[in-house]
Formats: sequence, structure tokens, C-alpha cells
Amino acid sequence: MPTPNVSFEFFPPKSLEGSFKLWETLGVLAPLDPTFVSVTYGAGGTTRKLTHEAVTAINANFGVPVAAHLTCVDATRAETLEIADQYAQAGITQIVALRGDPPKGTATFQAHPDGFGSSEDLVAALAKTGKFDIRVGAYPDPHPEAASMQACVDYLKAKIDAGATSAITQFFFEADTFFRFRDACAAAGITAPILPGILPIEDWSRARRFATACGAVIPTWLDDAYTSAIRDGREDLLSTAICTELCTDLIEGGVDDLHFYTLNRPELTRDVCAALGVAPNVALAEVA
Ligand code: FAD
Repeated sequence: MPTPNVSFEFFPPKSLEGSFKLWETLGVLAPLDPTFVSVTYGAGGTTRKLTHEAVTAINANFGVPVAAHLTCVDATRAETLEIADQYAQAGITQIVALRGDPPKGTATFQAHPDGFGSSEDLVAALAKTGKFDIRVGAYPDPHPEAASMQACVDYLKAKIDAGATSAITQFFFEADTFFRFRDACAAAGITAPILPGILPIEDWSRARRFATACGAVIPTWLDDAYTSAIRDGREDLLSTAICTELCTDLIEGGVDDLHFYTLNRPELTRDVCAALGVAPNVALAEVA
């Protein structure tokens, strides 16, 4: 089996303790030579400054390309483009452009009166600057607001046509879910790379909550497996096995790149990468 390329998502720390945790996580995962790492932008734009600080600090201290997430939420077009421009000035040329989740307590996305109304608008404006390599989100299990999987395929096509160069998917639990989506994208004429987003499951009840919120379908067999594993104190073992199996199925199905949602915890991602043959690069370990 070929060894995959890997990339990692982090969230910006909100406390000193969180900063140490992120640094420790990067110390473990940066030596795996990721093609890039990305830093999220808090729901409702709540981590605007923290995201910027984390992105620039990682860029300055670890030898890995960094992608900054950017959303349309709660900012004017001018403010959003100003944030992007600050990234360009700091040498950050990769943006993950998203519509964004609404702020806590709000059910649906409301565009700022002077803001970008959709991810497609944001992508088009970023592409017009000519300064960025733009990644976007994609939804193999349909997004909760989408009418169908085909609606997500069509919308992804619109974002690619607007200037995005690749997509990262929301997490999903079965490789076939990704393959169905990948095939539908190919049939729609999408040739840009689509990276599967992988969630190593640190905590099943938390992962379940995430899945329900973002529309990821939870197979009954998985729920049953966790019920038994949690009862027997073997949740970690099951998580390593399940995540490794999902990644293996994807690689055997032709996937070259895997994007891990680390939640700033390195252990499970490191173990799964090791099982897939992704070994630390000694020179990068010295930088970290
Ligand atoms: P969009 O592609 O804009 O919309 C999702 C789906 O809704 C589409 O596929 C389409 O079916 C439908 N839709 C939406 N608008 C239209 C339209 N105008 N016409 C037709 N159909 C439409 N959220 C954050 O707040 N911060 C982050 O850092 C963050 N990082 C993420 C990273 C990844 C890889 C992914 C997959 C998601 C991330 N999210 C983040 C969550 C994301 O913001 C939410 O899922 C949001 O609800 C949708 O944003 P989007 O740009 O991915 O989706």
C-alpha cells in the first residue's frame, strides 16, 4: 500500500495551557512532514485575532506550510479582505475559504449587511486578488442545509469555478461515503483534488455530537462497537483500529492525501499515521 501524504487541522488556543498543548501537538506531528497544516477560524469569527497569531507563529517556528481558515461570518467584505491581505503580507498564501458556522445561539447563517453572502462570493473575491491558493469545504454526507448530495457536488463545482483549487471534506465514517461523493464530483467535471477529512475519535460521545451537528451519518455498527468498547475500557484501541481501517480503505481506493482533524491532540493521529507508514522525518524533528 502506498504511503499517503498527510495534513493536519488545529484550532487556535485560547489560553496559555492551550498554547502549550498546541505546541506539544505540533512537536509530535510536524516531524511527520505534512504537506500543510491549517488553523480554524472560530464559529462566528470569534477567534479572528487568535487564528492570525497561531497561523503566523506556526509559520515562523515550524518548517511546514500553513493554511488559514477564513469565513464570511460577522465581518464586512473590506474587513475580511483586510485579514486575507495581512496573511499575504506575512507570507501565508493558503486560505481555507468557508461560509462559516453561525455564532453560538444562532441557528442559521446571516450574512453581514456589507459582508460576503456565501462561500462562493468569498472564493471569487480571494481569487481576484491573485495572492492565494484557495481550499474549500466539501460534504460527502450532505451538509445539513443541503437538499441532497448532488446539491453539495453542484455547489462545490461552483466554488471551484469561482477560483478554489482544492477541497477538504467534512469527516465521515465509511470510505464508501467518500467514494460515492468523489465519483459524483468526477461526473460533474470536478478535477480539483478532494482531500478526505479524517476525524480520529478521541471521545465517542463528543464525536457523535459533532457528527449530528454537521450531518455526518452515524452507522449503527459504529454506535454498537463504541457501546461495547466503552463498557470494556477499550475506546482508544477501537478508535485506533477504526481510523486506521478507514484510512487504509481510502488509500486502497486511490486516495493519496489525508487531512486529519486533530482537535489539538497528537496521540491518536500519530498512531494512525505510524500504522499507515508515515514516519517522522529526523531533520524536521530537530526543528520541532
Ligand atoms: P458551503 O459550500 O458554502 O455550503 C454548504 C452546503 O450548503 C453546500 O454544499 C450547498 O449544498 C448548500 N449551500 C450553501 N449556500 C448555497 C447557495 N448559495 N446556493 C446553493 N446551495 C448552497 N466553520 C467555521 O466557522 N470555522 C472554520 O474554521 C471551519 N473550518 C472548516 C473546515 C472544513 C474542511 C469544513 C468542511 C468545514 C469547516 N467549517 C468551519 C464549517 C463550515 O463553516 C460549515 O459547515 C458551514 O455551515 C458551511 O460552510 P462551507 O463554506 O463549507 O459550505
